[in-house]
Amino acid sequence: MDRSPVPLRQFVLKVHSRCDLACDHCYVYEHADTSWRGRPRAVPDEVLVRTADRIAEHAAAHGTAAVHVVLHGGEPLLAGPARLRRAAEELHRALDGVCALDLRIHTNGVLLDERFLDLFAEFGVKVGISLDGDRAANDRHRRFADGRSSHPHVLRAVGLLRRPRYRHLFAGLLCTVDVRNDPAAVHDALAELDPPRVDYLLPHATWEQPPPRPGGGTPYADWLLAVLDRWHGQGRPFPVRVFDSVERTLRGGSSLTESLGLEPSDLVVVETDGTLEQADSLKTAFDGAPATGLDVFSHTFDEASRHPGMLARTQGLDGLAAECRACPVVRSCGGGLYAHRYRAGSGFANPSVYCGDLMQLITGIRDRLAAAPVPPPPQPGPPVLPEAHLDELAAGFGGAEAVRSLARAQLGIVRELLAAVRQRSADLSADRSAPAAAAWELLTALDSDAPDALDAVLAHPYTRAWAVRCLEGAAGADAGGLAEVAAAAALRAGRDEPVRVPVRGGAVRLPTLGRVLVGGDGGEAVVSGGPDGFTVAVGGAVLRIGRDDPPGDRWHPVRRLAAPGWTVALEDTDPYRDGHQWPVAGRLPDGEAEAWRAGLAEAWELIGRELPRYAPGLSAGLSTVTPLEAPAGQDVSAAARQAFGAVGIARPGRADVLALLLVHEFQHVKLGAVLDLADLHDPEDTRLHYAPWREDPRPLEGLLQGTYAHIAVADFWRVRRHTARGAAAAEAEVHFARWRRHTAEAVEVLAGSGSLTPLGMRFAEGMRATVAPWLEEPVAPEAVRGARLAAQRHREAWQARAAAGS
Ligand code: SF4
Repeated sequence: MDRSPVPLRQFVLKVHSRCDLACDHCYVYEHADTSWRGRPRAVPDEVLVRTADRIAEHAAAHGTAAVHVVLHGGEPLLAGPARLRRAAEELHRALDGVCALDLRIHTNGVLLDERFLDLFAEFGVKVGISLDGDRAANDRHRRFADGRSSHPHVLRAVGLLRRPRYRHLFAGLLCTVDVRNDPAAVHDALAELDPPRVDYLLPHATWEQPPPRPGGGTPYADWLLAVLDRWHGQGRPFPVRVFDSVERTLRGGSSLTESLGLEPSDLVVVETDGTLEQADSLKTAFDGAPATGLDVFSHTFDEASRHPGMLARTQGLDGLAAECRACPVVRSCGGGLYAHRYRAGSGFANPSVYCGDLMQLITGIRDRLAAAPVPPPPQPGPPVLPEAHLDELAAGFGGAEAVRSLARAQLGIVRELLAAVRQRSADLSADRSAPAAAAWELLTALDSDAPDALDAVLAHPYTRAWAVRCLEGAAGADAGGLAEVAAAAALRAGRDEPVRVPVRGGAVRLPTLGRVLVGGDGGEAVVSGGPDGFTVAVGGAVLRIGRDDPPGDRWHPVRRLAAPGWTVALEDTDPYRDGHQWPVAGRLPDGEAEAWRAGLAEAWELIGRELPRYAPGLSAGLSTVTPLEAPAGQDVSAAARQAFGAVGIARPGRADVLALLLVHEFQHVKLGAVLDLADLHDPEDTRLHYAPWREDPRPLEGLLQGTYAHIAVADFWRVRRHTARGAAAAEAEVHFARWRRHTAEAVEVLAGSGSLTPLGMRFAEGMRATVAPWLEEPVAPEAVRGARLAAQRHREAWQARAAAGS
């Protein structure tokens, strides 16, 4: 079954057609295709201008959120700084207001110097360097024409990129495998350079010119698996694309590289004369193999995407040879790189010439995953987020178990905070430290006798909020909170020890249970459990609160909604609930509480029906909704970094809006908890970054938070446009077109920031993999136009502010 053409998103722009090295494995000069001989050396202006305009035209027509352009060669630095500046300027000019631009250059590094790097910093050009390993490995192929080694030049280039000033431009190392090299020595030599990523590439070969196999067997798989084991042994210090891709596809995800998997190719090459070619790797097959007969002057990229050769690389499973279609690892392998399938006579309808190696590599990775030791039961120590859970969360969702991992880790954090509060209180005078010491003693006893009761109070979102404020020395938060936690946990455990608790604002706080109004301010009350409820003794008076007493003038219990599959507290009593950016609502009258109950029940039902991928995580981790006050006519909501499990919302009039606010804010809750466990970005990066939905630039973490939250927003509108009726459906269509674009664009800004850690890049790739297919979903042209206009307005406003220096 033939597929439709896919919009092109990856553009390889040849800026120079010659090279200053004479690598004998180069597919441009050393393989079958000789088309380079007749092309201009440096790309002329008219090709740059036309290419940039064509890319913009194509991206605009398809509502593409981001395009990736790689400046390539030959050796692209031979084009010189002026030519490269022109290329970057033209691309930015044409794509400004159309879509995000991820601009890269792949170079051998020989000529790289500060002039180039300052230029790349100006235009955000990321640099990938080709390096085949240690000196012996690199010198095997990567030499000058006169035989000199290029190795010292490449190390110097990498050294420049590792300087703090340029580090954000370093995209990674590309290493072509030669099985005669020692895999450990090659890998260690690359690892020593602390790259943000490594790509191991199989040397180009076909059935006509098979790769060297000294000793026979599957040497390429053996070599890569040796590297894999070494990389694992080192703790996977940076992403390695081939391994990450196979692991990901084995788990059902999409491939990360054109050389593996079933994803359609969306890549085209523009030569220095403006002719359009298919993937460069095809040069290895036969003379003229990549040619399309098209060029940027006479043809659009739409026409290029319909070229039979391009279409052939978009057919997925249907485009593979029968052996591949029946192969058990085809979803991870995809028949390997298209060019490697070539055989005279049958063309590309063959398995890869690396078939045996690919099979061995993929099954080797699969077996290692299966044999990975079952994680031991949680031990005291820094909490760790399992990789599978990280990947689930990175995709924007996260099932119940992944969110429970976050919740367990939060419990550990809260316990540490409580211990720090206790430690701090021990330094106080004896009379002031005594209540905390008594509370700590009770907490310790509860931890051993009634851990569930204690955990229920420690898991309360505002226990952490109090502890953090206490440690910061904030007014109104002191070590008395230990007694409040102990009293609430003791009551939950059915114990009757009296606990001395502070009176704050005329009330006794019992986190997770509610508050008792006792009047006055300051001083202490004594809370004691009993068989039917509890008592609060203060100033000679004793208040009795029955277990089943309804809310009254003195007793403000926390109300709970129990919907099928979800129980949530409506928190309007805890004084530490005020960290949600907007003012909190006071104690809700019964009628308002009922309206909340009805709204939450309806919103939960909608989430289960229309957003089922979010429901399990929400059910496992969203314990508390805190009502906020909103300016008239505004929908407001917020999460709070120090309050895992809570979202603050001003009750909107519609259940669908409430559902949207719940899933949106819970994204912030999840990501905040991930950031407690994993370094996703460089905290030293204080730059502000473009956020497609805001006129003011954002710090990196703010951009990350916004992007993650907007995955849920885009998904909400994506579904809603089919389930809403009439004008609401049309409105949802516009929202979807806008938010998918903003979110995809923001993912690229993050990925291109240069400040994500390897784990952060993995997280961004997870987000990208979720959002990218949404960009393919058909949307009404007027909605796409509306989204484009909105994006353009945002970018213009942002640029105006940037120009004004605000
Ligand atoms: S391992 Fe071989 S048969 Fe299987 S998909 Fe890959 S190339 Fe085809």
